Amino acid sequence: MGDAQKMTGEQIEALKAIVGDGERVVTTPTTVERLSKDFYWYSPVLKPMLESKKGEVVVYPLKTGEIVEILRFCYVQDIPVTARGAGTGNYGQAIPLQGGVVLDLMRMDKLEQITHDGVAVCDPGLRLGALEGKAREQGWELRCYPSTVVKASVGGFLGGGSGGIGSISHGGLRDFDTVRALEVVTMEREPAIRLHAGEAVHDILHAWGTNGIITKIWLALVPKVEWAQAAIAFETYEGAFDFSERIAVDGAWTKRLVTTFEAPIADYFSPVRALCPLGKHMVFMLVALDQLETLKQAANEAGGTVTYAEAYRGLKFAPLLSDYTWNHTTLWAIKHDPAYTYLQCGFDPDRVRDQMALLRSRFGQEILFHMEFIKNGEGRVVPAAIPLVRFVSTERLNEMIACCRDNGVFVANPHVNNLEDGGRFREDHAQLQAKRRYDPKGLLNPGKMLSFTPAELAMEEQVR
Ligand SMILES: Cc1cc2nc3c(=O)[nH]c(=O)nc-3n(C[C@H](O)[C@H](O)[C@H](O)COP(=O)(O)OP(=O)(O)OC[C@H]3O[C@@H](n4cnc5c(N)ncnc54)[C@H](O)[C@@H]3O)c2cc1C
Repeated sequence: MGDAQKMTGEQIEALKAIVGDGERVVTTPTTVERLSKDFYWYSPVLKPMLESKKGEVVVYPLKTGEIVEILRFCYVQDIPVTARGAGTGNYGQAIPLQGGVVLDLMRMDKLEQITHDGVAVCDPGLRLGALEGKAREQGWELRCYPSTVVKASVGGFLGGGSGGIGSISHGGLRDFDTVRALEVVTMEREPAIRLHAGEAVHDILHAWGTNGIITKIWLALVPKVEWAQAAIAFETYEGAFDFSERIAVDGAWTKRLVTTFEAPIADYFSPVRALCPLGKHMVFMLVALDQLETLKQAANEAGGTVTYAEAYRGLKFAPLLSDYTWNHTTLWAIKHDPAYTYLQCGFDPDRVRDQMALLRSRFGQEILFHMEFIKNGEGRVVPAAIPLVRFVSTERLNEMIACCRDNGVFVANPHVNNLEDGGRFREDHAQLQAKRRYDPKGLLNPGKMLSFTPAELAMEEQVR
């Protein structure tokens, strides 16, 4: 376990006494190993770095009061604690680097209520798909969700995610007041339950559980829409991208998803091969059902062939086109050929074609374009991208990242295991300041926020 600390039998017994139920404190090696891992292996750089890392015990709290007691004990005993939702994160976000407790929150999964103005009040372990289902029963739906919606938890999405399906109309998790408030438990001698509302949610969002355990969430929804799914094939990538962009930026379309796949990406989507003619450049969309006929017409006029167009029936019904978009695209490609990996990019909407052309000229087919459109914080729909990359070496990958950045393409690097280098660390250091307040010893998911120095250490340094 390398630098992992070793917990004692007495400490494990003490945790059992805290939760009062031995079944909810598990040291079985296979369980601990499984619940210490996420989808870090998407990255050939992170895979060798993280495969030996794991926690020492899994604890399943049922209520906030238990978390307070667990953190109180771990603080005194200097035991690291790593929060875990469904473990679908990508960058080893939920992998404990220094052993300790894996705090599995999936048994805290209640939906307390959906308010009359469409705010879901829920536990962190509620699965996003379950929330979407319950919301739709009451006339609402999620503003945005990851393609892992069925499995992923609300708390994990806030802790490690950014956006996804729906972001084309409603932005990411950070935008437009989508996360109204959250409650966190702090890692102090006397753990506190703190409410962060409004702007203060940004102290905790996308902090990978390094500065508090999220125990309650207020998430804004939107009125539900009857959706339709469509798949459209194009002969050229330019044709597919032009059409996608046209629909994406035009406010007249009610849409939840516009995804463009350069050939041969869609050839890898084996369950929906019938919808994706071999070698074609594909566009997958979710638009309002009452706009489907107009969309089909527009697609035909643009030279596309509509290969599928039907009312969307929900997350449980195939084909579920979102299962091939966002970071699921990478999954299908890796299944086809493990040499594939990916980047997470934001293109400049005014220079996107030049930027893509430059990357193509520098890297040829080592990069394949998979574009997603999102509304940015200023309300403009812009081309984001999760391009596929054929992995040659870490140096070559870094060269590609540098080339993107030198040419104005934003990169949130998915091949690093710390917040700062990932590219979504807040420049105002809101997350760092919250960590200083809430986790002075640095015991929450240690090693993931590099700019943080534990309080005692900082004091010692001052004395020196
Ligand atoms: C195939 C695939 C597709 C994906 N598509 C998308 C996408 O479209 N958009 C997107 O944003 N992400 C995407 N992801 C990443 C991931 O699925 C989402 O971010 C998801 O919401 C994470 O939820 P989870 O419950 O699995 O979180 P976990 O992986 O369990 O945790 C994520 C992070 O949050 C922390 N955390 C978990 N619970 C809490 C809590 N209660 N309090 C504090 N911290 C906590 C963990 O410590 C960890 O650092 C994808 C991943 C895969 C493998």
